[in-house]
Parts: sequence; C-alpha cells; structure tokens
Amino acid sequence: MANVLKTIRTGDDYIESLRGRDLKIYLFGELVKEPVDHPMIRPSINAVAETYDLAVREEELASANSSLTGLKVNRFLHIAESAQDLVLQNKMQRKLGQNTGTCFQRCVGMDALNSLHSTTFEIDEKHGTDYHKRFLEFVKMVQKENLVIGGAMTDPKGDRSKGPAEQDDPDLFTRIVDKDEKGIYVSGAKAHQTGCINSHWIILMPTVRLTENDKDWAIVGAIPADAKGVTYIYGRQSCDTRSMEEGDIDDGNAKYGGQEALIILDRVFIPWEKVFMNGEYEFASMLIERFTCYHRRSYVCKTGLGDVLIGAAATIADYNGVPKVSHIKDKIIEMTHLNETIFAAGLASSHQGHKMKSGVYLNDDMLAQVCKHNVTRFPYEISRLAQDIAGGLVVTLPSEKDFRHPEAGPLLKKYLAGRKGVDIENRMRILRLIENMTLGRNAVGYLTESMHGAGSPQAQRIQIQRQMQVGYKKNLAKHLAGITNDVEEPREPSEYFKRVFKTKESVL
Ligand SMILES: Cc1cc2nc3c(=O)[nH]c(=O)nc-3n(C[C@H](O)[C@H](O)[C@H](O)COP(=O)(O)OP(=O)(O)OC[C@H]3O[C@@H](n4cnc5c(N)ncnc54)[C@H](O)[C@@H]3O)c2cc1C
Ligand code: SF4
Repeated sequence: MANVLKTIRTGDDYIESLRGRDLKIYLFGELVKEPVDHPMIRPSINAVAETYDLAVREEELASANSSLTGLKVNRFLHIAESAQDLVLQNKMQRKLGQNTGTCFQRCVGMDALNSLHSTTFEIDEKHGTDYHKRFLEFVKMVQKENLVIGGAMTDPKGDRSKGPAEQDDPDLFTRIVDKDEKGIYVSGAKAHQTGCINSHWIILMPTVRLTENDKDWAIVGAIPADAKGVTYIYGRQSCDTRSMEEGDIDDGNAKYGGQEALIILDRVFIPWEKVFMNGEYEFASMLIERFTCYHRRSYVCKTGLGDVLIGAAATIADYNGVPKVSHIKDKIIEMTHLNETIFAAGLASSHQGHKMKSGVYLNDDMLAQVCKHNVTRFPYEISRLAQDIAGGLVVTLPSEKDFRHPEAGPLLKKYLAGRKGVDIENRMRILRLIENMTLGRNAVGYLTESMHGAGSPQAQRIQIQRQMQVGYKKNLAKHLAGITNDVEEPREPSEYFKRVFKTKESVL
C-alpha cells in the first residue's frame, strides 16, 4: 500500500494516506489519475475524513477502548464489547449523518468486522480451522493503523432465480479460481460498493445462502484496495457533474457526497492469513444474517440526514414567509415523527444487544429489520414533505452562473425575492440542498440506498415473518378468550421475546 501513514489520526492524515495508490478506476470512459484530486470523487473522500475528525473532536462518541489492542480506536474499527457499544455506534452514525448530509461509508466495514468475529469463531468450533485467530490479527492491524474497511457482500447475481453454481457465467458471483501454498486467487465482481475507492482494505463476503454445489463461492477474505487484479468502475450519481462546474451553489452540498463503484476482481491473490472462510458454505447464511442484523440498524445514519432535511424544510418555509402556517408546522412535526421512529427502532435494537459465544455483542434482529424497513419508506415521505414545503423552485431554479451574470443576475434577485430581509443567495442555497437530498447526488444516499442498501424491503419482510411467532401470539389471544382445547405451536416465546423479557445478562 503506497502511502498509508503509520497511524492515521485526522481527516487530513486520512486524505494523504489515499494518495499515490495507483488504483485502476474508470470514470467517464477514462482512467482516473488521482482520485483524491478529482472534483467528483473528492466530496466522498471528505465524508470519510469527517469520521476521523469526529473521533478527534468527540472522542467519547466516535472512538472506543479496544481490549484487543489496548488502544483507543476509531469506533468504526471497534468490536462491540457491550450493548452500550452498539448504542454508541448508532449515536455516532446519527451525528455523522447530521455533519455530512450523506453516506459517510464506513459502517459496512464496521458491521462486517463485528459479524465476522462471531462467525469465524463458530466456523472454527465446527471445523477446527483457525479463521478466528487470523481474523483477530487482521483487526489488530487495522485498529493500530486506523484504516478504512470496505464491506463487499453484494455480487452482480445475474439471473436472480438461480444460485451461483447455476449461472451461465460463474463470475457473476465472486469465487475461488485457484489456490497454492501461499493463498487463494479469486475472480468475479462486487456491485454497488460503498466507499470502496476510499477504503484501505476490502473484505469480500458471500451474498446469498449457499449449497454444497456453491463451495467455490463460499469465500471470505481481506484484500488491500490497491491489490493487483482489481478494477473499479465508478458509479454515476444524479447531478454528479455539477461538482465539476464553477461555483458551489448548484451542488447543494458541495463538500460532502457518497460513493459507489463496481469492483471487478481478476485472479486477485489473498494470502492464507487473510482468508476467513474457504468452502464452509453452510456458514454463508449465518454471516449474511449477522451482517444484515448489524447493518440494518446502522441505517439510523439516515436520521442524521433527516435532521438536515427537516432543518432545510423549516428554513425554506421561513425564507418563503410561511413558517407559522399551521399545515407547514404540522408537516415539520410529521417529518420529525417519521425520523424519530427510525431512530427509535435502531436504538432499541442496539439496546437489546446480547453477547455471542465469541464475546462480541449482536443487536436484536427483529428490531433491526423493523428499523431498516422503516428506512425503505420514511425518507421518501420526509422528502415528499420537504418538496411540498419548498415549492416548485426546488426544480426550476436557474443556475449559479445566471445568478452571477451582470444582466440575468439582477433580474433573478428581483424575481426570486422571498420574505423581506432574506438574502436571495441563501434562499437559492437551501433550495439546492433540498434538491441535492431528494433528487440530486445525496438522494442516492438518502433515498435509493435507503431502499436497497443492506437488502431490499422484501428481505426484511422475510426476516420479520420468520421471527413474528404468530402461533405464540394466537395462544395469548386464545388464553384470554378462554379457549383451552386449541393450542398452537410454538408454545414458548421465541428468541425475540426472550430478549424482550430478559432481565439478566446471558449468552443467547
Ligand atoms: C447506494 C447503495 C449502496 C450499497 N452499498 C453496498 C456495499 O457497500 N456493500 C455491499 O455489499 N452492497 C451494497 N449495496 C447493495 C445492496 O445490498 C443491494 O442493492 C441489495 O441487496 C439489492 O440487490 P440488487 O441491487 O442486486 O437488487 P435486485 O437483487 O436486482 O433486486 C431488485 C428487486 O428484485 C427482488 N428480488 C431479487 N431477487 C429476488 C429473488 N430471488 N426472489 C424474489 N425477489 C427477488 C428484490 O426484492 C427487489 O425488489 C448497496 C446498494 C446501494 C443502492
Ligand atoms: S448508508 Fe448509512 S449505514 Fe450504510 S455506510 Fe452509508 S452512512 Fe453507513
């Protein structure tokens, strides 16, 4: 790895650590020379840099004491040692959402590390392998060097009705293609990869439940982002080229943005010490379920973005002269209610965290599903209300260049006036921010990522259905109704209800 400093501390250290890595990145049909200096990529790097700066400014919130290394480490690299650690992850995520108004990209890696802690432990328990030890060495290294980890789970998947081994092209799921005494070689691709170009290491994981036929696809391993054989093809975002224009108003949020790319892997080498699963196909679903359990409540990040959008809606109402109108106030209340409903479920899921056999804490699965399912809907409604309050100008506003033009500018200043005393440029800026979050670059993070990231809505409904225990609930009803001769299975409460009524610490 070219430029990684011994210990990265600040956002600036982090940005420097990304320079000179010679990554192969395609964007607009050309290879990017230095992503750090690319105006379209830089906002996404700034968002990750804020995760470092927050840890410096608010140490208690964004860092943690690691018993693995004995160091104070960035919370994104910490293995949760208590339910409180999980709760603090959520609080940090909301704060970073507020500070950046976008996806700050580090949670996938955090959730991959935490889910691998228990999964590698349990694979070893069954197979006598030493994945957990290797994994802990990896965690120690990234904690000491304070690195960014990307979590690469989603494969391109081809025909969704078929598993990896059934596809016409076996590369549609990432797989092992060769091995020798030093390690393994993997080929394939990973789609929609958040912050991958801004990462130092990427952890590859399977994305679907696997069968014995899919053994070659049952691979977990860590690769440096600049490993030989890796190609990135940058994902376009709505209105992305505005960051390459003069001025900063039309960006809406000029400093911060998200990042996704398609990663192509061509015989990428992973040394044995960085391989954490190799053929144990029956553990793929355990890893996926635990990862998505963590990750679906990580989506409280969107409540930080929601706070920004609520603030933007209230500001534009003020600039337009209608802050006290009853339906506007009511809409702001509704937006807040929806936003806090997301937070409530995520935070409750973390509070209900329990200790796994490996020692890591895992949050409650049912409440994590509910949190993410709310996220697939509520940001859309919050955005609808923000656009309602903003008025049509949010999509018909002329450009900053016109605003600065000697002839068009004064005309705009005259006809874009709102409430007396409001600076017209401020009015434009807040409208552009609403556009950015509901239609533009950061709508990727606020809306469509809310829909599909950590799994599309149906994935949560399946998990909710699996845990909802209708039989047990029917028994509750029948008991109160006096029905004694018609009892349903299961009679006992599920793991979910055990956690609901748990009064003491125990390993579930
Ligand atoms: C902005 C963004 C960032 C992301 N970041 C990451 C990341 O960092 N790391 C990562 O690993 N992944 C990431 N993802 C991927 C995310 O997890 C997937 O988008 C999600 O799992 C859905 O997969 P898909 O996009 O291939 O959609 P599809 O699988 O094509 O789904 C489309 C629709 O088809 C349905 N569907 C698909 N297959 C089936 C089936 N077999 N049976 C029934 N219905 C089906 C789905 O429910 C959905 O409604 C990100 C996604 C987005 C949008
Ligand atoms: S979508 Fe949210 S949870 Fe996922 S990486 Fe981005 S900020 Fe973190």
